[in-house]
Amino acid sequence: MSDPHNKELNFATLPGDGIGPEVMAIAMDVLRAAGERHQFAINTSSHDVGGIAIDNHGSALPDSTLDACSNADAILFGSVGGPKWENLPPKEQPERAALLPLRKAFRLYANLRPGNLYPELSDLSPLRPQTVANGIDVLCVRELTGGVYFGQPKSTTTLEDGQEEAIDTMVYRTSEIERVTEVAITAAKLRSGKICSVDKANVLETSVLWRRVVAEKLAAEAPELELSHMYVDNAAMQLVRDPNQFDVILTENMFGDILSDELAVICGSLGMLASASLGADQNSHGQPFGLYEPAGGTAPDIAGKNLANPCAQVLSAALMLRYSFGLEDAANNIENAVKAAIREGALTGDVAQGGPSVSTTEMGAAIIARLN
Ligand code: NAD
Repeated sequence: MSDPHNKELNFATLPGDGIGPEVMAIAMDVLRAAGERHQFAINTSSHDVGGIAIDNHGSALPDSTLDACSNADAILFGSVGGPKWENLPPKEQPERAALLPLRKAFRLYANLRPGNLYPELSDLSPLRPQTVANGIDVLCVRELTGGVYFGQPKSTTTLEDGQEEAIDTMVYRTSEIERVTEVAITAAKLRSGKICSVDKANVLETSVLWRRVVAEKLAAEAPELELSHMYVDNAAMQLVRDPNQFDVILTENMFGDILSDELAVICGSLGMLASASLGADQNSHGQPFGLYEPAGGTAPDIAGKNLANPCAQVLSAALMLRYSFGLEDAANNIENAVKAAIREGALTGDVAQGGPSVSTTEMGAAIIARLN
C-alpha cells in the first residue's frame, strides 16, 4: 500500500561515533528503498556530532550541526562517545554535550521507547520462557523535560551542624502533563488503544495532579481509549511479571527513565531497540519535530567490524517516518521487513545466540529484500 502524498523528507543525519556511521548507512539504504515503494524523496545532509565533532570542530555539537538541524523537519541520530573522549570533563563528554543541548534546543518533551521482543528472539530475554513466548510489544512514553531532574530549587548546602543537605524539587504543570498525554493518545490510537498511566499518587503531589490531568484529558479527547493507573513500584514489578499486560505506558520523567531501561533489558538486545523524542514545535509537515535514535550506545567493542546490529537504527528511521512525517504505511512496512528478516533467520552476532550470524551490511540487505 502506498501513502497518500508524494513527500520530500528533509531531515538532518547525525551518525556520530563508533558503530553510528555503519548502522546509519544501513538505515539510509532502507529509507531510500522504502521511498521508492511509498513515493517519498529524501533530502538529507550528514553532520558531525559527538566525539568526531570534538575532533573536527572543537565542540560535540558545532553550530553548523545545530543550524542544519534547525533547518530540518527531524533529526536521525546515531550514537556518540567512546574511549577516546572518556577522560574529558563530564560537561564536555560527547553524550552530555551533544544530546542535552539538542533536547533543549528543540524542546524535546516526550520520549517514546518501544520495547519489542520478537518471539523468535525470546531466549534473549532474562524473563521466564513462558512469560515471553509470544514476544513483547510495549511502548513507554516518558515526559522528558519536567519533574525532579529539572525542578528548582536544586542545591547542596552545609548546615549549621556540619551536615550537608541536598535538595531536588519535583515540579509538574498542567500543560506539561497535557502535552505528553496527547502524545500517548496518538500512539495508543495507532496501537491497541490501551494506556496505563504510572505515578506515585499515594505519596506525591505531582502524581496526584498527573493522575487527574491524564484522566481529564483522556475523558475529553479520547474516551474510546482504555485508561488505567498504576503506582510506579507496582509497575516495575508488573513489567517483569507480565510485560504484555501493558500496551502504552505513560509516565513522568524519572519513573520513565527507570521503567524504559527495565523494558529495554527484558527485551534482550540493545541492538534492536529504537527511540523517539518529540518536540514542542511542529515541522513543515504539520507533525512534531523529533529526534530519532537507537537506545544503545556506540558499541566500541565491535565498531568498524561490520558486526553491529543495524535494526535499532533502521527502526528509529521507521519511527521518524511515523511521527515526524505521518508515513504510517512506510513505517509499518519497514518494521514488518525487520520482523520478517529476523523470523527467517537473518541475525547479527548480538542476537544469534551462538548460531550462524550475518554482518551489518547483510542484515541491511535482508531487510530491504523483505520490504513490500
Ligand atoms: P553500548 O550500548 O555502546 O554497548 C553495550 C553492549 O551492547 C556492548 O557489548 C555492545 O557491543 C552492545 N551493543 C550495543 N548496540 C549494539 C548494536 N547495535 N549491535 C550489536 N551490539 C550492540 O554501551 P556502553 O558500552 O556502555 O557505551 C559505549 C559508549 O557509548 C560510551 O562512550 C557511552 O557513553 C556511549 N553511549 C552513547 C549513547 C548515545 O549516544 N545515546 C547511549 C549509551 C551509551
